[in-house]
Amino acid sequence: MKQLAVLGATGSIGASTLDVVARHPQRFRAAALTAHRDVAALVDLCARFDPDVAVIADADRHDELGAALKARGLRAEALAGAAAVDAIAADTRFDTVVAAIVGAAGLSSTLAAARAGKRLLLANKESVVMSGELLVRTASAHGARIIPLDSEHNAIFQCLPRDYAREPDANGITRLILTASGGPFRGWSRDRLATVTPDAACAHPRWKMGRKISVDSATLMNKGLEVIEAQRLFGIDPSRIEVLVHPQSIVHSLVEYADGSQLAQLGSPDMRTPIANALAWPDRIDAGVQRLDLATAARLDFEAPDLVAFPCLAHAFAALRAGGAAPIVLNAANEIAVAAFLDGRIGFLDIERVIASGLERTVNEAADTLDAIVGIDAEARRHATAALKG
Ligand code: NDP
Repeated sequence: MKQLAVLGATGSIGASTLDVVARHPQRFRAAALTAHRDVAALVDLCARFDPDVAVIADADRHDELGAALKARGLRAEALAGAAAVDAIAADTRFDTVVAAIVGAAGLSSTLAAARAGKRLLLANKESVVMSGELLVRTASAHGARIIPLDSEHNAIFQCLPRDYAREPDANGITRLILTASGGPFRGWSRDRLATVTPDAACAHPRWKMGRKISVDSATLMNKGLEVIEAQRLFGIDPSRIEVLVHPQSIVHSLVEYADGSQLAQLGSPDMRTPIANALAWPDRIDAGVQRLDLATAARLDFEAPDLVAFPCLAHAFAALRAGGAAPIVLNAANEIAVAAFLDGRIGFLDIERVIASGLERTVNEAADTLDAIVGIDAEARRHATAALKG
């Protein structure tokens, strides 16, 4: 029986994870659940899964959480604050950590799980982008096993040799090809993109996700973050990572080998497939997803991404090549800009402007300790906040 700590349990990935967990009560137990501010949703999950611990990251809501658990007669211990989330990630009672917090807020708990040698099911791509080699090094030094939940990276994980150790040449790997749906505005002109509203950006044609990643999908920054994530996780040169737009979101990514073979993973666009794969690996279990019927799908289309209409993807490739502080700055500027866009403070095309402004002034600092990363992130956020005004 795996004892799970689900960080970000009240989010979209949290819900999909708990759906798979509920289908396999003999295999998995949701033993610790965390949320940011949504006490009501967290308590509802506690009523359903009976965890040992419930953590609310907003320290001011500790009493509210304790009272709500008590009122429902639930036995979960109530903890609060960001440090409590980190402690749960490292707690030896839980062997598996699902890292599903959104944004840089997930960095410290992801690293804590890696340091504690956990089986780390990783959705929080921002923490991978920010921590670069540090996360991978920490996991390796402490015997943590990272299994990606992101559908593209999980697809690659499935298409790689089982004992793959970040050595593409030794395994005859020539390219990683990440597929992208193209988002809701594929084919739109720049003039039309200037009119995009937050609600339109959050209405993804294929995937139902949290609001931040939905906007990232609409700008193609999500794919940019994923390119960096793939480089980090699989140790491959950036020149060997490519993006292929595939609007049906059925082929989730491909690995190309020296003999010309391309191995792909296909499935319905449902996050429960990669989640079930990561939860049960190396076993295979029922994920509750609709079976893929290729005869019904009928056609699979592919095209190159439009980097002129969607420059965020080009910014991400540039940041990856520049290395050092650049990916951290890219991520920080994107988080500030997306939050401002969702609040109606800037327009859709201002997101790429704020990111470009951050990258222009990036100096090539080393970013190989947590302190250095946190410092670069904070400075980049200050600059991006000032850049919102244009
Ligand atoms: P959601 O916005 O749906 O959920 C985010 C979760 O994180 C919630 O539980 C939220 O709590 C919690 N949270 C937010 N801010 C903080 C904070 N400061 N401290 C602690 N917890 C916090 O996001 P998603 O589930 O869509 O995405 C989660 C991660 O997974 C992201 O990194 C995303 O890029 C990645 N991902 C998501 C996919 C998807 O299909 N959704 C696919 C692949 C990757 P509360 O509810 O209280 O606000």
